[in-house]
Amino acid sequence: MIPVSEPVIEEQDARMVERAIRSGFVSSKGEFITVFESRFSSYCQARYGVAVCNGTAALHLALAALGIKKGDEVIIPDLTFIATANAVRYCQAKPVPVDSEASTWCIDPEKAAGAITKRTKAIIPVHLYGHPANLERLLEIAESAGIFVVEDAAEAHGAEIKGKRVGGIGDIGCFSFYGNKILTTGEGGMCVTNRPELEEKMRILRDHGMDPKRKYWHPYVGYNYRMTNLQAALGVAQLQKISRILESKRRNAALYSRAFEASDLVTLPPEADWGKNVYWMYSILVNKGGQTARDRLIERLLEAEIESRPFFYLIHTQPPYKGLARRRTPVAANLSRRGVNLPSSPLLTENEITHVAETVVKILKS
Ligand SMILES: *Cc1c(COP(=O)(O)O)cnc(C)c1O
Repeated sequence: MIPVSEPVIEEQDARMVERAIRSGFVSSKGEFITVFESRFSSYCQARYGVAVCNGTAALHLALAALGIKKGDEVIIPDLTFIATANAVRYCQAKPVPVDSEASTWCIDPEKAAGAITKRTKAIIPVHLYGHPANLERLLEIAESAGIFVVEDAAEAHGAEIKGKRVGGIGDIGCFSFYGNKILTTGEGGMCVTNRPELEEKMRILRDHGMDPKRKYWHPYVGYNYRMTNLQAALGVAQLQKISRILESKRRNAALYSRAFEASDLVTLPPEADWGKNVYWMYSILVNKGGQTARDRLIERLLEAEIESRPFFYLIHTQPPYKGLARRRTPVAANLSRRGVNLPSSPLLTENEITHVAETVVKILKS
C-alpha cells in the first residue's frame, strides 16, 4: 500500500527523544521545550513561540489570548478541517464560514470583507494543503476593520508569501505537529507571535491560568495545553531536516504535475506568483463527473493499493454547524466535491509517483 502520508523518523529523532527521556524531564519542564520554541519561532521569522499539546489547542489558546468570547464572530473559510471552527466554538463565539478563491483554494479576502459585522473580532485564514492564503489583502481588510488575524498554518510549515514565512505574519500563527503534518512531535502544536503581551497571555493560559510570579495563584480560568519535553525533543530533531522535507514535497509536486501535464482529466494544485506552496498534500481536482467520479477514483485507487483522501466537507454542512447563517460558498463547494489528496510522503520514490499518476489517469479514463 502506498500511504497518503508517512512521517520521516530517523536515527537522529530517536536519539534526541532518548536524550530527553534519560534527562528525567518527561513532562513539560526540560531544556527541549525552550529550544524548540525558540528555534521553531525563528524559523517562522517570529519573535516568540509557545509550544502546546496539539494544533487545535494552539488555535483555541490564540483565540482565548485575544479575548474572543460569547457573542463575538470569527470569520473562517468554509473549506477547512473541523478544528478551525471548533476552536471558535470553544470560546462560545460564532464561526462565520465564507467562500474560497479558485486561485489559492484558501479563504477569499473579498468574501471575508463582505462578512464583517460589528461583532466580528477576528479572521482565521487557513493555508490549505500547504498553499498560503492571500494574507497581504486580508491584513489590509483586518486592519481597516480593527480585527485580529490568526493564521491556521497547521498544514503549511515553511510556506511563504513574497519571501516571508507563514505563521509570523498575522497577530498569531498556529501550527500542528500531528503525525501526518510537515513536522511531527507525535501530537503537538505551537503558537507563534511577534507581540510580547500575547506571548505572555498565552503562556499563562497554557499553564492553568497561573500567575508566573505567584505559584498556585490563578487570575484566569486557564487550560493545561502544555507540550512535553519528549515531544519537544522530537520537534528539535524534526526541525533539523525541514528543508530536506520541503524539498521532497516540492520535488513530489513537480513530478506529479509533469506526469499529469498532458491530461485534461484533472486540475493541478495552484501556486500564486506571490506565494510558495509547500504541497503538504499534493492535491488534484477531478474535472469530469463531479463527486461521483471523485469518490469512485478514491475507491479504485484503494483497490490498486494506493491510499488517497477526499477534500474536507464544508463546515456549514457538518452537524454541529448546520444552523449557521447560510452564505453562499460555491467555490468551496466545488473544491470540496472534486478534490483528492494523493500520496504525499517525502519518502516516495519517483517510480511510485509516476505509478500513482498513471493509475489516476487510467481510472479516470475508464
Ligand atoms: C491538523 C489541523 C489542525 C489541528 O491540528 P491537531 O494537531 O490535529 O489538533 C487544525 N487546522 C488544520 C487546517 C489542520 O489541518
